[in-house]
Amino acid sequence: MNLTPAMRQYVEIKEKYKDCILFFRMGDFYEMFFEDAVTASKAMEITLTSRNKGKEDSIPLCGIPYHAAPSYITKLIEKGFKVAVCEQVEDPKKAKGIVKREVVRVVTPGLVVDADNLQSKENNFLAGFSARDGAFGLAFVDISTGEFRVAESVDREFFLNEIAGLDFKEIVVREELKGNNLLRAFSGCVANYFPSDYFGHDAAVAILGEYFPEDVLNRVDVEGRPAMAEAAGAVLRYVTETQKDRLVHINDIKWYDTAGYLMLDDIARRNLELFTTIADNTKAGSLFNVLDETTTAMGGRRLRWWFNYPLIDTEKIKERLAAVSEIKEGHLLREDLCKALSGVYDLERLGSRISMKVANGRDLIALMTSLKALPGIRKLILGADSHFISSIYEGLDEMRDVAGLIEKSIVSDPPPAIRDGGIIREGYDGELDELISITRDGKGWIAALEEKERRRTGINSLKVGYNNIFGYYIEVTKTNTDLVPDDYIRKQTLVNAERYINQELKGYEYTVLNAEDKRKEREYDLFVRIRDDVAKEIRRIQKTASLLADLDAIVSLAEVAERYNYCCPRVDDEDIIEIKDGKHPVVERMSLTDGFVPNDTFLDCEKSRFLIITGPNMAGKSTYIRQVALIVLMAQMGGFVPASEARIGIVDRIFTRVGATDSLARGQSTFMVEMTEVANILKNATGKSLILLDEVGRGTSTFDGLSIAWAVAEYIHDSNHIGARSLFATHYHHLTDMALTGEGIKNFNVAVKEWGDRIIFLRKIVEGGTNRSYGIQVARLAGV
Ligand code: ADP
Repeated sequence: MNLTPAMRQYVEIKEKYKDCILFFRMGDFYEMFFEDAVTASKAMEITLTSRNKGKEDSIPLCGIPYHAAPSYITKLIEKGFKVAVCEQVEDPKKAKGIVKREVVRVVTPGLVVDADNLQSKENNFLAGFSARDGAFGLAFVDISTGEFRVAESVDREFFLNEIAGLDFKEIVVREELKGNNLLRAFSGCVANYFPSDYFGHDAAVAILGEYFPEDVLNRVDVEGRPAMAEAAGAVLRYVTETQKDRLVHINDIKWYDTAGYLMLDDIARRNLELFTTIADNTKAGSLFNVLDETTTAMGGRRLRWWFNYPLIDTEKIKERLAAVSEIKEGHLLREDLCKALSGVYDLERLGSRISMKVANGRDLIALMTSLKALPGIRKLILGADSHFISSIYEGLDEMRDVAGLIEKSIVSDPPPAIRDGGIIREGYDGELDELISITRDGKGWIAALEEKERRRTGINSLKVGYNNIFGYYIEVTKTNTDLVPDDYIRKQTLVNAERYINQELKGYEYTVLNAEDKRKEREYDLFVRIRDDVAKEIRRIQKTASLLADLDAIVSLAEVAERYNYCCPRVDDEDIIEIKDGKHPVVERMSLTDGFVPNDTFLDCEKSRFLIITGPNMAGKSTYIRQVALIVLMAQMGGFVPASEARIGIVDRIFTRVGATDSLARGQSTFMVEMTEVANILKNATGKSLILLDEVGRGTSTFDGLSIAWAVAEYIHDSNHIGARSLFATHYHHLTDMALTGEGIKNFNVAVKEWGDRIIFLRKIVEGGTNRSYGIQVARLAGV
């Protein structure tokens, strides 16, 4: 096919970005051609047309206006596409021949920075994964916030289960691992496979050295952890290649050290419905959704992180609890803080956009508005007693210099585009002011020149005028031509008058005609300079953002504690979990006809470490055992808990296993899944863990199920093996016999009252086993 030069350029660039939809900038549009046009028009739901329609050499084409690009990019990203944005990188007016074009960045599901493309309270992680010498290395980054974390582990199963919950959007991985079961933790995310050299150790060390200072690298022991270094190197290389630049706002590495947290694997997160519900996989009705009262996006992401990674260090937990207490008690302060925080935009993401040079005038104004809220926020927490809050007070940098710079330079309501002028405030730059006054005050300037020339020449009838052919001129009637000074140059002769031009007027003409363009150019230059100056302060912005996130998360915990009347738990390193009037934080919020019935719990590692909860279906067993786990989790994240009193002896891991519900429909495989999950607990639980087993063993015939349930229970409860604190909900009332043999096993049941041939659920947990399953009555209740 005979291609035009522009099309040849397109094809050349597209060749390098085969796996992307290429957004090819042509004037005010991004155009897509050939198969990209076919695919993208479908995905973006826009019309597919063609260049040279009807002719033999017609090419499929679709296009979108440049300013609408973000929302179209979102659509494509959501559908799993990658987009390469190709701009005109020189001024078309100055171009000789075809305008130079280059891909300026690649947007992929894991590399999104536009605010409208992102879930504000969620991170957007891109991960790199590597396996070497039996160790697994992981690195993940959120380029919209600059967060960068690394991890390494030799414990394959646990590690994979653990990271599955991080919900990555995209992964960078070695080609050889394609299809490998190791990658199951990344199922559902966009995968990029690269050859081995992409993961080379030396290259990794080199690029890590470009991004991070030496002390940071030493802290995470890059040399001693080759798998991690490889994963980190590959991620950074991918980021740098797609963003066409080193990202300055990625400047710190956090060690993703699960040993420092209460570990929850993905199954536990799902079973406890931390972020989505089991029934319909929606956010509404999840624990996070019910308890999130954060005001800012950063606070939302921080709270989410706390939910995912509750603490195990009692001192740190107590610090958070003290902070929550302090804010909970000060009613007024809490309201004021919420109000003040609502004036803060997403500083982390704004900072990243500024640093990545994609921020516009509105972003800078949003930054300034946020910074201006800081003195007010600091004032509200001045003199705080708790260490947590007083150190936020100390650490918060109000950045008056940055706010001041933006305030004096950027207009209060700038347009979204940065090349069309209207961004920079008058009075900020002399040269720009002159350009503005020229475009605006043309008339005044002419009147002034006229006046000046009249005085100089003594010709009172002298006039300054303009026409399209000759431009600006000075007109003098024929009778006065002898008074015309030497510096006038004659341009045109009329019947009664002569028209002249002089140096000043020529200069003016040139200036005016160019002023509009120059103004735009000058504004753009100034804007970029200001943005770069602000970008230099990225670390200060990041630090402030992080402290505000902490504050917002604490305020949210306090708000919830106050609103729902939660109590402050006592946390310690002993093994006792004692809860008075505990409630399930989510079920309690549902509209229950008779209200939620609170229940007590006592667990230790001795006499009362394995509680068997029996009772008919629908009695409230699952709710009860989950509420214990949730109360522990909430306490360890530093929050108040739904109880009248609670004492929580630190838990290192929470495991939950729920038996398959419909064994017939799913058969053997479900049972296999269930057993694999159980095996995982048996391998990984410790004496400090908390284990919930809900109807385990149901996935097979009753007798097998019972035997397995029994065996599992014995193993977990036996302190020679695990001896973990456990809650076992089951409707196999035969299991209650275990208590006769096993030390530390206690029977409880959910009380029901018989009423003729019916039963009433009392929802009260009472000590002792049941010997009835009330199957008939439950069936009746269900309408059978
Ligand atoms: P089981 O596990 O015994 O089959 P669930 O724990 O699923 O029963 O509870 C069934 C329903 O009972 C819940 O959806 C909830 O509406 C209600 N329920 C459970 N516990 C309580 C309680 N303590 N107070 C009030 N209602 C409860």
